[in-house]
Amino acid sequence: MYCSYCGRLSHRCACGAPESDIRRFFARAGRRYAPLILARPPKWAVPPQIKRRERATLRRHSRDWFRRLAADGGERCANCGAGEKLVLDHVIPIARGGLSQLDNLQLLCAECNRIKGKLMIDCRAFTRRE
Ligand SMILES: [Zn+2]
Ligand SMILES: [Zn+2]
Repeated sequence: MYCSYCGRLSHRCACGAPESDIRRFFARAGRRYAPLILARPPKWAVPPQIKRRERATLRRHSRDWFRRLAADGGERCANCGAGEKLVLDHVIPIARGGLSQLDNLQLLCAECNRIKGKLMIDCRAFTRRE
């Protein structure tokens, strides 16, 4: 079985450890999110040309997508609610096979984005409910 947050095999996963990134991520917002349920396990060896292509796609659309996400969930971090230094975050990271398309993106502040790293956490449903 694969960890739904980091994509590692469960016996190698450290997400449950007291000081894990995912716990620090949750701690910033005082809430938890249901794990992403993926139809298939994340890819671990995404070729560099695919990564380049997806980053280029993001750059091309970033202004438009940023505007649409801000209109949908507010111009704030989907995790902690901060309104500054927002970046587009891939819910499923490019390095895990995620694509640069609107339904795989959320707004996070720089610090939440840094902690999240290559974890797979979808904060958007929560933001929309508020
Ligand atoms: Zn994990
Ligand atoms: Zn944040």
